[in-house]
Amino acid sequence: MAVTHHTRMLVLGSGPAGLSAAIYGARAGMEPIVVQGIQPGGQLMTTTDVENYPGFRDVVQGPWLMGEMQAQAEHVGTRMMWDTIVDVDLTRRPFRLTGDSGDVYEGEVLVIATGAQARWLGLDSEELLKGKGVSACATCDGFFYRGKKVAVIGGGNTAVEEALYLTNHSDDVTIIHRRDSFRAERILQQRLFASDKINVLWNKQVERFVGGGDPHGLVGIELKDTVTGELSMLDVDGGFVAIGHHPATELFRGHIALDDDGYIAVETGSTRTSVPGVFACGDVMDKVYRQAVTAAGTGCMAALDAERFLQAVEFDDLAQAAE
Ligand code: FAD
Ligand code: NAP
Repeated sequence: MAVTHHTRMLVLGSGPAGLSAAIYGARAGMEPIVVQGIQPGGQLMTTTDVENYPGFRDVVQGPWLMGEMQAQAEHVGTRMMWDTIVDVDLTRRPFRLTGDSGDVYEGEVLVIATGAQARWLGLDSEELLKGKGVSACATCDGFFYRGKKVAVIGGGNTAVEEALYLTNHSDDVTIIHRRDSFRAERILQQRLFASDKINVLWNKQVERFVGGGDPHGLVGIELKDTVTGELSMLDVDGGFVAIGHHPATELFRGHIALDDDGYIAVETGSTRTSVPGVFACGDVMDKVYRQAVTAAGTGCMAALDAERFLQAVEFDDLAQAAE
């Protein structure tokens, strides 16, 4: 039977942003509920080594870090819910959100921390071969390509990290990039160029993933040179698309202001959105930095902004009642 859950602070998303907001919110007495969504722990659950989250001299693992954040949030009083929000009503407070389970979540304030999801190339052949050789997560699927030939598409941090990770399983990794320089951090590029297992194909874009259905799946990638237009074929068993992410904001379209790229618009220097009492943090509102530490930082900001908002509203309510 569907249940209605009420809280002073409702948080959507259990990545670094949502969990940091919950930690601060719980300590401020807002008794947060976190609705975790389809990826509990968020994007860091799909990676291995995290070397740049402050506080750890040695490399930590993404899933371990997120497990610690969740444990800390629960320890200070956060309630974690296994549900995904499918409908929102932000027209009045408390805000009413409906979960996939049918349960309703009411929040006096709402913190949106729904993050971002993998971007795909949008090719028919990609759709056909997803899960049959084409993937967006080397750390999840790389193991299946032990001793085989693999390719990574993209030129950012994710693509370079995925290529480096895949060298744990394969001696034949190709990275395919549409330009002639990477946008990945210098230190990652240095590691990539130092590896004798990785070959770089510059100025190439994917025309088509080639292969049949079961049991063979992907057998190659047809490439087009972005300068000359020349077509070529790369024989591979696995293709990993690593071309970035798009913000998980479809749910809020028409309910809250989004910017031109679909990110939740916030007032500069704050996490306040176009709807009073709704705050946004992490990758869902940040297209520039998109780091675990910045997501956690804006999660903290969202909780502080939410607490101030509630204090002001509750003070006004008391004043009105006294009149
Ligand atoms: P996310 O981590 O994207 O979490 C979003 C959350 O929202 C998820 O829990 C999801 O289930 C939930 N959600 C979505 N929709 C709904 C809904 N409708 N209802 C309820 N919940 C919902 N950053 C670093 O600083 N260091 C690194 O080493 C690093 N490595 C990375 C490696 C990879 C492969 C990737 C993809 C990213 C990496 N990043 C790294 C970036 C970092 O992971 C992100 O910046 C960070 O996770 C963003 O946190 P977030 O909380 O904003 O969102
Ligand atoms: P990104 O930085 O946006 O890079 C996306 C890459 O894919 C770019 O090289 C882009 O090419 C390419 N691309 C985009 N669309 C394409 C298309 N249709 N066809 C072919 N190539 C395409 O995304 P990201 O690498 O996923 O990183 C996202 C954020 O997470 C970044 O802020 C990053 O710093 C962070 N992150 C950090 C770490 C870390 O700190 N270790 C690890 C992973 C991610 P162009 O360069 O030509 O635009």
